[in-house]
This record gives sequence, structure tokens and C-alpha cells, in this order.
Amino acid sequence: MGIVIFIDMDYFFAACEELHHPEIKGKPFAVGTAPEASKIRGVIQTCNYEARAFGVRSGMSTAIALQKKPDMIYLESDDVYYEEVSKRILEILKRYGMAVEECSIDEFAIDAAALDYEKAFETGKRIKGEINADLGLPCTVGVSFGKTFAKMACDDGKPNGAVLLKEAEIPKFLSAKEVRKLPGIGPKTEEKLHSIGIRTIGELAKADTSMLLAEFGSIGSELHNLSNGVDNSKIIDSQEAVSIGRERTMESETNDLAVIDMEIDSLSDAVVVELKKKSYSYKNVTAKARYSDFTFRIKSRTLQNYSDSPAILKSVSKQLIRELITSKKMRKVGVRVSTLISSKGQNRLL
Ligand SMILES: [Mg+2]
Repeated sequence: MGIVIFIDMDYFFAACEELHHPEIKGKPFAVGTAPEASKIRGVIQTCNYEARAFGVRSGMSTAIALQKKPDMIYLESDDVYYEEVSKRILEILKRYGMAVEECSIDEFAIDAAALDYEKAFETGKRIKGEINADLGLPCTVGVSFGKTFAKMACDDGKPNGAVLLKEAEIPKFLSAKEVRKLPGIGPKTEEKLHSIGIRTIGELAKADTSMLLAEFGSIGSELHNLSNGVDNSKIIDSQEAVSIGRERTMESETNDLAVIDMEIDSLSDAVVVELKKKSYSYKNVTAKARYSDFTFRIKSRTLQNYSDSPAILKSVSKQLIRELITSKKMRKVGVRVSTLISSKGQNRLL
């Protein structure tokens, strides 16, 4: 563990869309999962500040969002384009010659262990400026000791900020924050912590280790370490070229989900066999559909944690393939995993 520069893109999908369609800038718009023609069946993935002002939020059903702002501009999420932009960001980061981990499509952790705080912060701000100048996209940078605290510093600087959090300042930074601010604490863990009277990270830091172990297993001791300012996670340099995928042409063109799901199960199993052979875990899942008119579309999702589970791959792929259902029948379907890391000796919390 050492100094980490964390980069998180601001309103990434919305910012990408503004780049793609400059004419929508400044107007309320949202990006959703469903095609334009059936938009009310989908969910809002992201929206810009102007749409937020009307109460539109990500995660909201598009039908409800359109009640709040009926004339809002609607765009179907363009995962191929976002992936492309993400790769261009990664290329900029790689120019600095340090290891870079792709934590998600729009979050990156750079191993700056060779630098001191001032130099790392300066580098972080330079990268921020470069991403803005080269791609026209805003981002926030956090620099701290360890990936988790660099990410938390970054969260504090959103949007368009730069935050330096030195090791000595971490305990004070953490103490009054609510436990859910700690990366790795989801709603379930939060609820459980609340039920035992722990609401702040400071309270978690003082909690009895053996009690946390009993309640939460090994995650309990990791949370205890983190709350005390100790982050043992490593930067795992992305092998961005590596992805593992399988696709198959179906016996006949179909929109029958029972048939498609069977294909997805079998393709997912084949992908997992390949993953296990190479001891990889995945963080990104992509489903692809090629239609009767030979056009194709893909949908991707980044998981919160790395996984090697076939069950997760199947369930996420099935969700994604449902978002690809249109009036056209599918003739070919595919499943692909990317953002891979070697599953040996990794920290699973981030
Ligand atoms: Mg972001």
C-alpha cells in the first residue's frame, strides 16, 4: 500500500452524451436503458444537472422520470461509445508509466507509490487537466494513502474537484462520516451495523474486533482495518486487452426468452470454464445480440466487486439481454467478461 491517485469521471454517461450531441448541452436530458420507442419500460441510468432540478434521478423508472419532466430529452444508453471513451481515458493515464487499475468504466486508481504527496497531487491535477483538454470531459481526483482513501477523498471533491488527503489526516477525515461512505459497505451491511449501534466510521473503528469478526466474517476485520485508516488493497494493473467471450448463432431466429436464456446459461458456463483455466475474476459483463437484419447491439454492466461466479454471470447477462429485446428477432447472442484480474491473492472489498 502506498500513495494512490484516484480518478472518477463526473456524470460520466451524461458527459459522454453531451460530447456526442453538443446540441443537448444545457437542456434537461436523461440516459435510459430502453430503446427510444419503448423508453417507458426502462430505467434512468443517469441524467444531467438540468434534469435533476426537476426531480429526475438515476435508478428511477423512465415512466416516473417523464412524469416529472415530460419534455425531457431521452437518449438510449450507448455502451459501445462509453467503453470507447473509457479506453481513451485509460490511454491518457497509461502515458504516465504507472500501474493503472480500471475500477469501473469511469473510475481509475493509479499506483503513485514512487511519488511523494505533493508530486502525486500535482500529477493528479495535471491528469485531470489533460483529460479535460483532450476529451472535453470533467473528472475529480483524490490522492491519498491507499486506494480506498483515495477514492473517498475523490468522493469528497465531486464534482470537478481535487482533494489531497495525507495519511496523518485520515483518522480525522473518517471519524464523523457515516459507515456507508466506506467503499464496500452496501445497504445490508449498513443496516446490520446500525442494528448494533454503529453509525459512524469512528464508531466502527472503536468496535470490538472479535465481535465484528463474529458478525461479518473476514469482511468484518477488513472493515475494522479500513475504519482505522489501514487499507491493504493493492492496485491491480488492468489487462485491458483481455476479455473472454462466447457467442452462438441460434437454431432459428427468436425472441423467446426461454430459448435465449438457455443459450445465455450455456455461453456463461463456457466463459467461466475459460476464466477458471486462467484464474481470472471479472468485473464487467457484456451481452450482445445480433438481430435478423444483421445489426447488433450490446449492453454492459460493471459489478461492484470482482467475481468468478457463474451464477452472477448468468443473472447479469440475462438482465442485460432483456434490455436488448426489440421487435426484431435475435439470431445470435453473446456473453463477454472484461476488466479481468488474476483471482489469486486479491482484496475483494473494492
Ligand atoms: Mg463517476
